[in-house]
Amino acid sequence: MTKETPLRIGIVPVTVYQQNCSLIWCTKTMKGALVDPGGDLDRLKQAIAQTGITVEKLLITHGHMDHCGLAGVLARDLGVPIEGPHEGDKFWIDGHARGMIEGVPTEVFTPDRWLKDGDTVTVGDLTLDVIHCPGHTPGHVVFVHCEARVAMVGDVLFAGSIGRTDFPRGDHATLIASITQKLWPLGDDITFIPGHGPNSTFGHERRTNPFVSDGKFG
Ligand SMILES: [Zn+2]
Ligand SMILES: [Zn+2]
Repeated sequence: MTKETPLRIGIVPVTVYQQNCSLIWCTKTMKGALVDPGGDLDRLKQAIAQTGITVEKLLITHGHMDHCGLAGVLARDLGVPIEGPHEGDKFWIDGHARGMIEGVPTEVFTPDRWLKDGDTVTVGDLTLDVIHCPGHTPGHVVFVHCEARVAMVGDVLFAGSIGRTDFPRGDHATLIASITQKLWPLGDDITFIPGHGPNSTFGHERRTNPFVSDGKFG
């Protein structure tokens, strides 16, 4: 999936929602990051141990509990910072004070760095681009490694579907614009890892996805 770059990715489904947490790392430095470590922290720690990498940060796409419910706990355990999401999702993360949301344990945290469109994040020698893609939530970000042609898109886009927009501050037209105006220009050959379900490519979704195919939005 990742061509000949130092980027490697392993997927660990977490929480009752089987959220795709990505363990990404740089083979040159053996430093890595977890993208959306929402829960099941023992399983995530096991995966880290199996790869032999040193996790240096946690990256968060958006404030929903299955993506970051226990990110604050893991950051404390590992002694690493949290980067992301965009500050627009602060109200979602503050809601973690309830301690449990829809069957997922949660704890409030404050990211060490809020992200915005055009930012970059580093993992070892790797640099990923940050793209602000609101609609599912107002502060949702997507992480892209252009050289490897791979993106971690959270709940913006799925194989054959798109993210829900019926949550507070969700907006369908904004989500469609995020996908067609910010993701599609990256290239049809980008493989994406969604927050739930199987991988796909932007090109395949442009041809077949009933919500955002070119036939629908030219
Ligand atoms: Zn979500
Ligand atoms: Zn989700």
